[in-house]
Amino acid sequence: MKKLTDFPYAHVLVLGLAKSGTAAAKLLLHNDKHVRVNDVKASEDDEIVKKLIKTGAEVIVGSHPLSALEGIEIVVKNPGIPYDNPIVKEAQKRNIPVITEIELAGNIVEGPIIGITGSNGKTTTTMLTTQMLEASKQGVQIAGNIGTVATDVASTLKPHERLVVELSSFQLMGIQTFQPKVAVLLNIFEAHLDYHGTFANYKEAKSNIFKNQDSDDYLVYNAEESVVVDAVQHAKATKVPFSAKRRMENGAWADDRSIYFKREKIIDLAEIVLVGEHNLENILAAVSAAKLSGATNEGIQAVLTTFSGVKHRLQYVDTINDRLFYNDSKATNILATQKALSSFQQPTILLAGGLDRGNGFADLLPYLNNVKTMVLFGQTKEKLKELADEADILSEQVDDLESAVKKAYEISNPNDVILLSPACASWDQYRTFEERGDMFIQAVHTLM
Ligand code: ADP
Repeated sequence: MKKLTDFPYAHVLVLGLAKSGTAAAKLLLHNDKHVRVNDVKASEDDEIVKKLIKTGAEVIVGSHPLSALEGIEIVVKNPGIPYDNPIVKEAQKRNIPVITEIELAGNIVEGPIIGITGSNGKTTTTMLTTQMLEASKQGVQIAGNIGTVATDVASTLKPHERLVVELSSFQLMGIQTFQPKVAVLLNIFEAHLDYHGTFANYKEAKSNIFKNQDSDDYLVYNAEESVVVDAVQHAKATKVPFSAKRRMENGAWADDRSIYFKREKIIDLAEIVLVGEHNLENILAAVSAAKLSGATNEGIQAVLTTFSGVKHRLQYVDTINDRLFYNDSKATNILATQKALSSFQQPTILLAGGLDRGNGFADLLPYLNNVKTMVLFGQTKEKLKELADEADILSEQVDDLESAVKKAYEISNPNDVILLSPACASWDQYRTFEERGDMFIQAVHTLM
C-alpha cells in the first residue's frame, strides 16, 4: 500500500459508517487527515464509534445536520446513501466533491486494478477472474460483495499484487480519478432507477468505470449488448470485445464447440462445469480480464473444469444416482428463473414458490418446455399450480423445501435435473435466500 498521495484534502467528512465508511475513516486517519464521521443509525456507545473517537475522529450520530459540512473539503459517501440526502445535496451546492470509498482504494493501490461492473453477473465474473489468476500463480486479491471492502483489501495488498474488484453503479457514481488497468462492462439493464433517477444516469454511472482509462488500459465489454456498445463508443482504452455469438479477433468469443481468446483456443465447452448462456458471457469476460492480466491457459482451464458457480446462483450441488441437483436460490424473481430454465435441455423437475408479492407467473410459461414436474411450496404454491395446469405439467404441493427435495427425488428418473429456482423471495419461510439455498443443499446431502 502506498500513502494517499493524490488526495489534496485535509478535512474529510465520512458519511455513513457501515463497513465501507469505517474502512475509509481508518485509512484517512492513518494518513493524518482530519476526519469527521456522520451516521444516523450509529450510537456513541457503539464499539466502532468509540474506537474512531479514540483514534482522533470527530463523530456525529443520530441525525444528518448540515453543520457536519463546516470546514469540510470533501465527502466520502457510503454508496447506499442516496444523492437526495440533505448533506449530499448541500455539499454539491457548495461544490464540495462527493466520492465513495472505492476512490480511496484506487489511490493507495500500487499494482494493477481489475474493475468489474454490469447490472448482472458481477459476482460470478469477479470470482472467476480472481480464481483464474490464482490458478496461474499470479498474486491477486478480491474485493466486493463476496470479499471485503476495497479499502481494507487495498491496505493489505502487496506492491506486485493485483486487486480484482466488483463495482456497483452506486460506487462508480462517486469516482474522480479511479483508473483500473482492466475494466469489464458486462451489461446494462434497467435497474436501480429509484436511485439513479433515469436510465441515462445509470448508464453514465456504469460508464465511469472507464472514464479515466487511457490507451495503455483495457476495456473488456460485451459486443452483443447494444447499450454497452453505445456506452463504450468514445472510450480511450484499448477495447477488448467479447461475444458468445460471433468471432472476435480482438477479444474473447465462443463457437458451438470451444472458447477462444483472440486466435487461440482456450477450452472446449464440453469441459466447462458452469451452466447457463448468461454464464458463458461471464466466462468470456473473465477469460479476457485474466488473459490481459497474466493468466495462463492451464490456470484458466483448471478453474473452468471445476468452478461450479457462485453459491446460490445456478450452483451445481451434486449428482445422486444420476440426478443432477442445482441450487438457484438467488432467483427471487421470474427473470432469474427464466434464465435458469433456459440453461438446461434435460428433463427438469422445478422446485419453486415462496413469498407472494401479488404478481402472477404467466411469464414463465414459454420457459417450461423441459419441465416435467413442478414441486411447489410457500405462499405462492397455489398460483404456481395454476401455471403448471395451464402448461399441462404435473405438479405436487408440499409444506417446505425439505419435503420438496424428497418428493422431487422420489419422482425423478436418471439424468433428470432437479432445480431449485423459486421465482419468489424467501421471506415467507426463510430469513434469506442464502438460508433457503443452504436448506436445499443440506436436504440434497441428506438424500445420500
Ligand atoms: P451480480 O453480482 O451482478 O448480482 P451474480 O453473478 O451474483 O451477479 O448473478 C446474479 C444473477 O444474475 C444470476 O443468478 C443470473 O440470474 C443473472 N446473471 C448473471 N450473469 C448474467 C449475465 N451475464 N447476463 C444476464 N444475467 C445474468
